Amino acid sequence: MSIDTLLTARWIIPVEPDGTVLEDHALALAGGRIADLLPAAEARARYPSAAEESFGSHALIPGFVNAHTHAAMALLRGVADDRPLMEWLTGHIWPLEQKWVGEAFVRDGSDLAMAEMIRGGVTCFNDMYFFPEVTARQASRCGMRAVAGMILVDFPSAWAGGPDEYLSKGLALHDELRSDPLITLAFAPHAPYSVSDEPLLKLRTLAAELDRPIHMHLHETRDEIEQSRKQYGMRPIKRLQQLDLLGPSFAAVHMTQLTDDEIALIAKSGASVVHCPESNLKLASGFCPVAKLVEAGVNVAIGTDGAASNNDLDVMGEMRMAALLAKAVSGDASAVPAHAALRMATLNGAKALCLDSEIGSLEIGKSADITAVRLDGIETQPLFHPISDLVYAASRHQVTDVWVAGRRLLKNRELTTLNAEDICRKAAAWREKLAAQGGDTRS
Ligand SMILES: [Zn+2]
Repeated sequence: MSIDTLLTARWIIPVEPDGTVLEDHALALAGGRIADLLPAAEARARYPSAAEESFGSHALIPGFVNAHTHAAMALLRGVADDRPLMEWLTGHIWPLEQKWVGEAFVRDGSDLAMAEMIRGGVTCFNDMYFFPEVTARQASRCGMRAVAGMILVDFPSAWAGGPDEYLSKGLALHDELRSDPLITLAFAPHAPYSVSDEPLLKLRTLAAELDRPIHMHLHETRDEIEQSRKQYGMRPIKRLQQLDLLGPSFAAVHMTQLTDDEIALIAKSGASVVHCPESNLKLASGFCPVAKLVEAGVNVAIGTDGAASNNDLDVMGEMRMAALLAKAVSGDASAVPAHAALRMATLNGAKALCLDSEIGSLEIGKSADITAVRLDGIETQPLFHPISDLVYAASRHQVTDVWVAGRRLLKNRELTTLNAEDICRKAAAWREKLAAQGGDTRS
């Protein structure tokens, strides 16, 4: 195999094996994949014709996986802060979406979100929003990896008139993107309170036929549980179990309200949980019992949720919050140690999206989805343990370079495939429109 690039670095943290830190090693890349991982001196001797890029003050880590977001909602960042979930959704976000969401909104919002995520070291995001074909197209165009959600809700939107049309448009998208190397598809029923049984049963059959994962908000708030008890006579997770939706390719987002029996049920089903700590904190939704889930053997990944409820798409910040919050919630300072938090933000995310054979760790054969974090600044001195610094001290502003499938999307903090100026100009134009024409953008 002909090695085209050697990335040598002070530290390489492959995430698998867990907790490993390799000093003065190199990643040898060929055709967008990791072809070798070995000491830098050996790499130079073995691959003398490869172009070397040296990262002498950096840690190379797998690109972060944002396992749950609504990318285009980046345009709604800060429009209605400090409100509980249902008031926030029904009184502010949904009316704004009904008025404004269309192809142009989703295109400009997705670009804004991707620019932010790439600058924060994120290489893959799992999206749930209207016009998923637009987000998928923009991701493919700028070289970012994405899981496009085939969204399903009961109510009509600018994208689809009802459940059957959501499903048929999702399937058309699945056909269209089948051969795109960076985009995969997942079914994305919005939530138990917004999708009724019949469409969920249809979705279950399709997901099995097409072998696609399912990604859904679940047990986000106490109100959601109460409403389900009244409407269906049972808690939402029980309802999904009866509909036979839970399984290894099911990713349950939020899960702040869980009994011990439900944790056991999730573990037995093999489903993943996507923990969105900052969104849960901001909307006062509750606390996901991460330590208990991990102890039960559940795969826990990390998501930012949309920028309207966070308000950033900073997976690195979310990783730190997850590690800290798990300790506070469990009363155990040893819960979610730094290496486990890093794994949640990378390999566990890949697993939740059924992409762990392709991404999530720096292993030979996997795609070269890599993030370089500079660790020689004041903020991370003195440096005893690079994984500790990455999780507890560093910030996304220390991310300097990002590759997806070997293509460099961020070079020394400059975006190479997205135009930052143009994105900011369009975001400002949307702010004017939303603020001026009837949108309630008051905080
Ligand atoms: Zn969400």
